[in-house]
Amino acid sequence: HAGVVPELVVEDVTVRFAGLVALDAVSFAVAPGSTHALIGPNGAGKSTCFNVVSGVYRAASGSVRFAGAELTAARPHEVAALGVARTFQNIALSARLPVRDNLMLGRHRLTRSGFVSAGLRLPSARRESVRHGARVAQIAEFVGVADVLATPVGLLPYGTQKRVELARALCMEPRLLLLDEPVAGMNGEERREMAELIVSVRESLGISILLVEHDMGMVMRIADTVTVLDFGRRIAGGPPEEVQRDPEVIRAYLGE
Ligand code: ADP
Ligand code: MG
Repeated sequence: HAGVVPELVVEDVTVRFAGLVALDAVSFAVAPGSTHALIGPNGAGKSTCFNVVSGVYRAASGSVRFAGAELTAARPHEVAALGVARTFQNIALSARLPVRDNLMLGRHRLTRSGFVSAGLRLPSARRESVRHGARVAQIAEFVGVADVLATPVGLLPYGTQKRVELARALCMEPRLLLLDEPVAGMNGEERREMAELIVSVRESLGISILLVEHDMGMVMRIADTVTVLDFGRRIAGGPPEEVQRDPEVIRAYLGE
């Protein structure tokens, strides 16, 4: 893919926590419309990497660029406004709210009139809310949660909650989606379905994906490129078939 301008560029990023180097000059890039996996043993720095890209943590040095914009010092809402959406390693939905409301909250950054005018029931806000409702229904259909839109999230099976989380991220209409362990805690059937869904997010919606995943089999099936972290350092990177055979990667995983 020579000449393709990467969507996301992480360059020499270092993150420290009180003496601990969580990321040590880590670099990688995500090509547009591709799935890039970030793998590595527990504590390798994968979630920290997500938190830097999404503006939750600040890099001590290095830079993050997305679609030509500088993200290095951006705040979470600024990163989201540029088209980067994420899911969390642990589900971060409002358990008591119906699926529909959780998804509408995902559209918040796109709502021009905001909650004040919506509360005043201005016609413009009502029109906007109808438009968002239609799009939410479409996304729910795509993700396979259309039949549970009225159900409180907390009452749904775990695998379905993970789908709702993905749907909420899609409701932000992202260009890049960060998925932190999307199949963690799922059974075999749920894993297969989620993997299929992630592939179709990229293929049907054209969204680039940065994926943190522990399930090596899944990474090998759906990732175009892989970056391997160990103790905060990038120890390997490239196509999955190559990375899988890398002696240093094998050592890092066996040493876990
Ligand atoms: P991974 O997601 O690969 O399992 P993390 O990025 O969560 O790893 O953690 C990398 C290292 O940084 C770990 O040693 C972890 O304890 C540490 N760490 C992560 N977040 C914080 C934080 N907010 N404060 C202190 N240490 C942290
Ligand atoms: Mg993690």
